[in-house]
Amino acid sequence: MTNYKQIPFLDLDWQRKRIAKRLKVSWKKIMSESSYILGPDVGAFEREFAEFTGSQYVVGVANGTDALELGIRALGLGLGDEIIVPANSFFASAIAVNRAGAHPVFVDCAPGTWLIDPSKVEDKITHSTRAIMAVHLYGQIADMRAIKEIAERHNLFVIEDAAQAQGASQRGGQAGSFGDVAATSFYPGKNLGAFGDAGAVMTASKEIYNSVIGLRNYGSLVKYTHESLGFNSRMDSLQAAVLREKLRFLESWNEIRRTQAEKYSEMLGGFAEITLPVVADGNLHVWHLYVVQVKNRNRVAHAMLKAGVQTGVHYPKPIHLQPAYFDGTAKPESFPIAEAASATCLSLPIYPGLTTRQQERVVGALLSAAVEKL
Ligand SMILES: *Cc1c(COP(=O)(O)O)cnc(C)c1O
Repeated sequence: MTNYKQIPFLDLDWQRKRIAKRLKVSWKKIMSESSYILGPDVGAFEREFAEFTGSQYVVGVANGTDALELGIRALGLGLGDEIIVPANSFFASAIAVNRAGAHPVFVDCAPGTWLIDPSKVEDKITHSTRAIMAVHLYGQIADMRAIKEIAERHNLFVIEDAAQAQGASQRGGQAGSFGDVAATSFYPGKNLGAFGDAGAVMTASKEIYNSVIGLRNYGSLVKYTHESLGFNSRMDSLQAAVLREKLRFLESWNEIRRTQAEKYSEMLGGFAEITLPVVADGNLHVWHLYVVQVKNRNRVAHAMLKAGVQTGVHYPKPIHLQPAYFDGTAKPESFPIAEAASATCLSLPIYPGLTTRQQERVVGALLSAAVEKL
């Protein structure tokens, strides 16, 4: 029996150690100034992240779900409007639409990348459709050329959910720079993660920017004057300071993830039992998740855990089959690709700090669990 230490699915402490010294200084300053909410660090982070992503405007908010909702509201969308959302995403992509008062209309994903399948989008467009949401799942950007073409043809907005794609690019454009509005999340486990909840809206439109600035702060641009029924969804300064420190490393940390992904693909290639993730043409992937497909996924995951390797499943149930959207009484709409993916997907540990030695153990555990004749 092995007596190795377990390999965690994610280890955030490696990142924390790299920013700890400088963070102590910036947190001390925030505390001595008592500038906890929307302080100078929030503004500075917004500018730095705008520069990093090539977005005209960035607005820091409380989390990624809020960022999506406020972005949708800033487009003027709500009651009676339909927004097309991929069935294969994290649940938050869809509830943000509902929370804005609009209605998500699901569409299947494409095999291999598991991203929204543009060829299936037009079937879902009705007279109520107002926008297409592209989710840059697992760390690579959806086919924005195709999505934008469809959107232009039908006069629709494009919304990007870039929560898993910080630093990803496609044909020279950064995640968040393609849509009318984009949202990202700085949940701790994301490629750029805070020490709590945080998120941001990105846009090239001054109007949308102003609208989100108001919406995040009780609908107010001028203190005690409220132009809209806004929200309290602000980024706090302690989180902004964490994000500023981590942003300095993001490119090199994404590079580490790319090297790790290449290593996995090298070691796992050529086994019929394991389907590897595909990088679409023109994409620079940032590997938020490294997702393979295997038969008997639950059995494989269990065997790997017994061998000391934690894995993840993203996601075990597509959104259209979630109890919140489907009560199980009628026949659900069918999205065969998303449904098949959810039954076979398995996420392997990938993060800066994961060693080559650990990756070899992950691969060893996966191969002995999934491959019949080694
Ligand atoms: C994390 C995530 C969100 C939600 O972000 P929160 O900050 O947790 O609200 C939305 N969409 C996707 C694809 C995500 O991965």
